[in-house]
Parts: sequence; structure tokens; C-alpha cells
Amino acid sequence: FFARPWVFIRGVPAMKFLPPEGPPEVAFAGRSNVGKSSLINGIVGQKGLARTSNTPGRTQELNYFVPDGYSGEGADLPPIAIVDMPGYGYAKAPKEQVDAWTKLVFDYLRGRATLKRVFVLIDSRHGIKKNDLEVMSLLDKAAVSYQIVLTKADKISALALPKLEAATRELIRKRPAAYPTIISTSSEKGFGMDDIQAEIANFA
Ligand code: GDP
Repeated sequence: FFARPWVFIRGVPAMKFLPPEGPPEVAFAGRSNVGKSSLINGIVGQKGLARTSNTPGRTQELNYFVPDGYSGEGADLPPIAIVDMPGYGYAKAPKEQVDAWTKLVFDYLRGRATLKRVFVLIDSRHGIKKNDLEVMSLLDKAAVSYQIVLTKADKISALALPKLEAATRELIRKRPAAYPTIISTSSEKGFGMDDIQAEIANFA
């Protein structure tokens, strides 16, 4: 299904707009500007699918993407859905927006039985920040499996990358819902996409 075109099916601003539970879902979360849109576009091999927003922290919706060619009627469901979660941690975001984000994301993560894994994206240059830890704690509490993906790995040296991977592995070692394997990626150079595709394919 990664060879198929993918399509955007809906933006979900609040829980009541969620599609009925259907195919298994994998979600992508990360701080604003972490490279989430670029990564999703790289994984599906489609430049314009997830929109790289100029205004960080603006998109407050869960965006649903599925491979094309399934009607969604009856048994003709797509094998998997990708959910692009709104970015967090934008310093200038007004409090109401942060609260709305928190509510939507908490509700979604707690209540979605078909959610199989959340990829938590971490910028290789910055490492895990306070908001990332908060999201990870939430995932641990909700017992939703999550996996760390290092983005923009082309931005750090070939020597620094294995050190960062080891340090990150140590940081998540005792977290109950964290998947132990860390994936390093660069949308710019095109590496790591196949590792994420392989993980996603496990759930389809
Ligand atoms: P989002 O806000 O998390 O969706 O992030 P975007 O995908 O819009 O990317 C934010 C910025 O980081 C853009 O300027 C991208 O060009 C840049 N970027 C994204 N991925 C990479 C990468 O793998 N390597 C480098 N060097 N820059 C990247």
C-alpha cells in the first residue's frame, strides 16, 4: 500500500468528528517544526500530502490519511490509516490553543482502540524536551505503544548520531509503553523511511 497513492480523508478538530473505528491506525506526534509533515510525505512518497504549515502550531486537527482505492463501505476498508497529530510545544501558542490541543490529544490517545502505535518525533539537534516527556508520560498512562523517531539526522555528525541514539535509548528504557527500537531518519536525504514503513506494515 505504500506503492499506492494516499489520500487525505478528514481533519478532526474534536472527538465527535472522529471516523468510526475501522482500520488499524498509526499516529505521528512531535513538536512544531520537528519535520513531521516532511516525514509523512517521505513515507508515502508524496510531496504534498501532509501540509507543511508556515504557521507552526496552527493545525489543531487530527488529519487522517489512507491509501487510495478503498470505498470505506462495508468490508472495503483500507488496511491502515496514518494520523497526523497537531504539533505541540510552539512557544507563542495561546493558552486556549494549548488547552484545546491537550484535550483533543488526551481524549484521542485514551479512547482509540484501533490506535496501534504513536511515532514520537524528536529533532536530532534538540533531543527529548520537556513537552516530549509529557507526551510520553501520557502514552505510558494510556498504555499506547510508542516509538521514538529521530528526525533531521542529516543535521548532526555521523559520530554524534549513534551517541544520540544510545542516550535516547537509555532515556526510554524504563518507560513501560516505549518500544525499545529507535529509528533515525532524514526526509532530506531519504533515509529511515523504509524502517518506518516496515513498522507500519506490521499493523496492516
Ligand atoms: P512539521 O512542522 O513538524 O510538519 O515540520 P516540517 O516537515 O514542515 O519541517 C520543518 C522544517 O524542517 C522545514 O523547513 C523542513 O524543510 C525542515 N526539515 C524537515 N525534515 C528535514 C530533514 O530530514 N532534514 C533537514 N535538514 N531539514 C528538514
